[in-house]
Amino acid sequence: QAYNAAIEAANPQINAYVAVTPDKALAMAKASDERLAKGEAGALEGIPMGIKDLFATEGVHTQAASHILDGFEPRYESTVTANLWADGAVMLGKLNMDEFAMGSSNETSYYGPVKNPWRRKGSNADLVPGGSSGGSAAAVSAHLCAGATATDTGGSIRQPAALTGTVGIKPTYGRCSRWGTVAFASSLDQAGPIARDVRDAAILLKSMASVDPKDTTSVDLPVPDYEAAVGRSVKGLRIGIPKEYRVDNMPEEIEALWQQGIAWLRDAGAEIVDVSLPHTKYALPAYYIVAPAEASSNLARYDGVRYGLRVPGKDVAEMYENTRAAGFGREVKRRIMIGTYVLSAGYYDAYYLRAQKVRTLIKRDFETVYADGIDALLTPATPSAAFGIADQDMASDPVKMYLNDIFTVTVNMAGLPGLAVPAGLSGDGLPLGLQLIGRPFEEETLFAIGSAIE
Ligand code: GLN
Repeated sequence: QAYNAAIEAANPQINAYVAVTPDKALAMAKASDERLAKGEAGALEGIPMGIKDLFATEGVHTQAASHILDGFEPRYESTVTANLWADGAVMLGKLNMDEFAMGSSNETSYYGPVKNPWRRKGSNADLVPGGSSGGSAAAVSAHLCAGATATDTGGSIRQPAALTGTVGIKPTYGRCSRWGTVAFASSLDQAGPIARDVRDAAILLKSMASVDPKDTTSVDLPVPDYEAAVGRSVKGLRIGIPKEYRVDNMPEEIEALWQQGIAWLRDAGAEIVDVSLPHTKYALPAYYIVAPAEASSNLARYDGVRYGLRVPGKDVAEMYENTRAAGFGREVKRRIMIGTYVLSAGYYDAYYLRAQKVRTLIKRDFETVYADGIDALLTPATPSAAFGIADQDMASDPVKMYLNDIFTVTVNMAGLPGLAVPAGLSGDGLPLGLQLIGRPFEEETLFAIGSAIE
């Protein structure tokens, strides 16, 4: 009841939820009470959760914040959310996001931008919460849910977590099932939690992760007790500092934050090692070929026949055109055009194939430092603090917006786990985050180091 009331009071301003399910929440909470009374509590019994609009929730609004999915209520539940409900969690509603998870500011949503609950010192200007999981991050930050699901294709868990002072982890590719999660770029997409602290993130990931025969890329490995890693000593761990992440024009306060993180870990007994990931500079351009290419293929299914919106035309081809013209927003159309271009005959070798080769080189960079005994890498999570809504620079030049992802996309390209943890405030009082990148399926190390930083 308290969360339902908080959402009702604050959501008109923050716009974190695109649909609320207060009656369902109360019914689920009542069932939790009954299980608790019988001593049958699950790991998340009665915990109120917000769900990113990208996850299929049976009989409940699931539209990837897109007009083209108007009215879509799936008849099935995503594996990740089914896992949460099986552990007793309670659903509060569906969270705003960039349309089809394409964006870094939550401004491409059909439902309008999400507002970051944080303000610059002495200013009332609205700031973005980051994206694409901006609704998840804002809702957790503003206490409009106890934790949230999110997804990360190129940074969409870690960047919004960093910009709202919350914790987010993108697990290793294959840790969580993608079944029932609306696909953006299938070889990069992973679900994970956004939470108020490292311990909550560990508890939520334990519940969300599973092997699933319905997603053949999910991995059959036991899911460790992540919570047990929280607070574990980092003594003797070797933490790599990749020199290529010291990018041009990096604000001084980001560099200072990074140095602070290094000092904390050194004081906690970790060994700090300078390392090199030489292909880092190619990650962003390669990502913005691979992700749109996969998106253009995945989004071909929205044709006005099978889901959501249909805008009639004189024949079926015109109906497709009218539906897609009206149903997709500008950024989604831009991605579909880039994606079909880089996959087309004559350009495939020059762009898509080359980007895939670069991806292999990026992956090898990480394999090399891990083979040298590095346990995890420490980097900034974002190149700046939260920026203003409708920032003119970003609006006029999509590449400026894409630069937000400079520290996060390498992790998806290599399939590795990455954790964003709040580490300090900017000069004008906004949250800043650090990123920890781990070895494949060694999320526990990230929870241990993350809890030493937070
Ligand atoms: N900002 C990146 C993009 O727009 C990443 C999005 C994501 O991780 N879903 O593609």
